[in-house]
Amino acid sequence: HMPTAELQALDAAHHMHPFTTNKELAEKGARIITRAQGVTLTDSEGNQILDAMAGLWCVNIGYGRPELAEVASRQMRELPFYNTFFQTTHVPAIALSSKLAELAPGDLNHVFFAGSGSEANDTNIRMVRTYWALKGKPSKSIIISRKNAYHGSSVGSGSLGGMTYMHEQGGLPIPDVHHINQPHWWAEGGEMSPEDFGLARAQELEQAILDLGEDRVAAFIAEPIQGAGGVIIPPATYWPEIQRICDKYEILLIADEVICGFGRTGNWFGSITVGIRPDIMTIAKGLSSGYQPIGGSIVSDEVAAVMDSAEFNHGYTYSGHPVAAAVALENLRIIEEENVIGHVRDVAGPYMKKKWEALADHPLVGEARIVGLMGSIALTPHKDSRAKFASEAGTVGFICRERCFANNLVMRHVGDRMIISPPLVISTEEIDTLVERATKALDECYAELKK
Ligand code: PLP
Repeated sequence: HMPTAELQALDAAHHMHPFTTNKELAEKGARIITRAQGVTLTDSEGNQILDAMAGLWCVNIGYGRPELAEVASRQMRELPFYNTFFQTTHVPAIALSSKLAELAPGDLNHVFFAGSGSEANDTNIRMVRTYWALKGKPSKSIIISRKNAYHGSSVGSGSLGGMTYMHEQGGLPIPDVHHINQPHWWAEGGEMSPEDFGLARAQELEQAILDLGEDRVAAFIAEPIQGAGGVIIPPATYWPEIQRICDKYEILLIADEVICGFGRTGNWFGSITVGIRPDIMTIAKGLSSGYQPIGGSIVSDEVAAVMDSAEFNHGYTYSGHPVAAAVALENLRIIEEENVIGHVRDVAGPYMKKKWEALADHPLVGEARIVGLMGSIALTPHKDSRAKFASEAGTVGFICRERCFANNLVMRHVGDRMIISPPLVISTEEIDTLVERATKALDECYAELKK
């Protein structure tokens, strides 16, 4: 391919990157990733980088699996596209929906496909409102979500998300979306015990339902463990209380499993790990390990029975796309056959947990937590008081991320938290390398701050 500088110049001239100040990037030049294998990326300069983010939390079975390429190629030759709108279907959509019904917990037996997590959450907004309207309760239209949540970038899913800097652009949120606080004990728990704080934050849902009116609230949406908001692991008291409140007030519970799903937390779904019974689950990312764009909503027998009684005027050209569905199915086959989830639960997860939590001894780290293979560390100038840095939030996180890059490690920062979500197939030797590089980056960041 062309030399790096030429590629960077073309990229700067024509490519608008998501979530990026493109002008700044143009000055610096984007890092160009050319190949990947297992957990390792190669860039255009030949650097070998350990990807502790699995792309964007999605490449669960690792890069470079030829089985997926073969299935995609075969499916493209056989039936590259057909829609599922007008009383037609095809084998990949049938096979994938039945497989998902088998894997999903409880009576989540019905799948509405989408092309991404954002689209799936848009489906959910329309689905829960339509569900209540069909049940004769059209006033139930409010969806309660959480501040600082990420549920996608479309107008609907961006509204469900609770990131105000997203709402500020493009006139979000849409009406009838309400946000409550996160169960983020380390940053906001003050003197309360994690258990009391978890309960208090869950009870904000009950208070919101009472304030807004039980007859107006349709659903509550949340990730079992919040990912892009900073891998916030809730206290153990949080989810049982949320489940109790949803049951008591007949509020549909939507678990956004876009990150937590497909093994990330050591079970097929994060809902299993935190012990909830959602009515709807949002899926994407790990469903195909990112090899093809595909997402969807898995819904309960009860929700499907109501929705199936009328036409749902909703769908995407690529709902159940045959190539994406075939690739997803093969991905699920590999996860099962290679016992990838057992590897997370019994090998990589416990091994990583020991090493990751030990990072809390670093002078720059306030807390270091992980569930399965999604983890975070909070950077702080003073661990005992859990203080924030005087600099603008994210400044230190950015420095640390850059030090990771310089040490051939992709780790992301959310404000001043560092987060990881490596491919689930990561070996113990690769975990050693990951933690070594992360420690070196932390040391360098600490030294830079002391200057
Ligand atoms: N939901 C969650 C929890 C996510 O993390 C994301 C993406 O990061 C989405 C939804 C949106 O998915 P997509 O980017 O496929 O639209």
